[in-house]
Amino acid sequence: MNLIGLNRDALTSILTGMDEKPFRVKQLWHWIYFQGATDFGAMTTLSKTLRAKLSDAGHTLKRPVVVREQNAADRTRKWLLRFDDGTEIETVYIPEDDRGAVCVSTQAGCPNACAFCRTGSMKFRRNLTAGEIVAQFMAARDSYGEWPSPSLEPRYLSNVVVMGMGEPLLNYEATRDALKIITDPEGIALSKRRVTLSTSGVAPVIPRVAEDLDVKLAVSLHAPTDEVRDKIMPINRKYPLKELMAACRKFQDIAGTRNYITMEYVMLDGVNDSEADARELMRLVKGLAVKFNLIPFNEWTGCPFKCSPTGRIVKFSKILENAHYAAPVRVSRGQEIMAACGQLKAAADN
Ligand code: SAH
Ligand code: SF4
Repeated sequence: MNLIGLNRDALTSILTGMDEKPFRVKQLWHWIYFQGATDFGAMTTLSKTLRAKLSDAGHTLKRPVVVREQNAADRTRKWLLRFDDGTEIETVYIPEDDRGAVCVSTQAGCPNACAFCRTGSMKFRRNLTAGEIVAQFMAARDSYGEWPSPSLEPRYLSNVVVMGMGEPLLNYEATRDALKIITDPEGIALSKRRVTLSTSGVAPVIPRVAEDLDVKLAVSLHAPTDEVRDKIMPINRKYPLKELMAACRKFQDIAGTRNYITMEYVMLDGVNDSEADARELMRLVKGLAVKFNLIPFNEWTGCPFKCSPTGRIVKFSKILENAHYAAPVRVSRGQEIMAACGQLKAAADN
């Protein structure tokens, strides 16, 4: 069994099943998630017998296979990772000056099929397990050699954004379990404030993100009316804007209004980018503590949409900013290696 992704309870039952004392779990946890050990032999604080027992039982700490690694001119790095059953997904690292975000996937493909998203255009394969989500972050750390977990800033891999392939709230339990491990202070130890989960709007699950995880929330809003949103995001027919906004209010009731929700808004030429759209958008989010993030649409072959002209994006941003909303325009990263927002599509499915 691959132990990556197991929580303390699961590791404890493995240990007790081997007639080991449950307190050993602290040491095992430390080696797996703090030191990033890849084999049991290196776990020098464990007895030789226990190390042997763990490997004899067939347990591993195997990372996914790196099928391909690509580096962009702006230092964005993308990995194509393959799991044991052959499923392939993509993970991206986006560096800033003294920190950086690992963008993890939660599903192979996405059942949502948003009209502007390249991942949505591929066939949905399956949900990822908690272990497969955690392993993406660990593989990224392997790639930069950032083990053991640095206790001081700066950290190269400081943030996680759940913005890769798939809809995390359609694979909620695995995503939750993975984020709990990633933010565990005795292991990988990322601060909850540095984890952002992005959802297309699975309304009933949104409050649970505040209850269970207390990480930051981003919502892919992309349209101010049901009429437009229905056309570009099929999930809106199931959970229309009224329901989505109510879920965001519940989220904020639990998380607090200092915990701003980021409303992501992809700028699609002639679809959602008029001045009237900007004003409608502000009416929609009234009463919520939000900031906007305007994403220039990343065009891809086979998709009919075009990105709004820069002037219109700036104007849209100004309207929101004049009403005292933060509304920066996101800078696209790693475009030439197809690592930018909405461009992920594992090679096997090309
Ligand atoms: N499924 C989740 C997580 C994916 S996050 C969600 O939809 O929120 C990926 C972000 O990129 C989302 O905001 C998504 O709407 C956006 N996106 C998708 N395709 C895009 C494209 N071609 N250009 C720019 N942004 C895109
Ligand atoms: Fe899935 Fe998000 Fe892409 Fe929509 S935008 S298809 S929900 S990954």
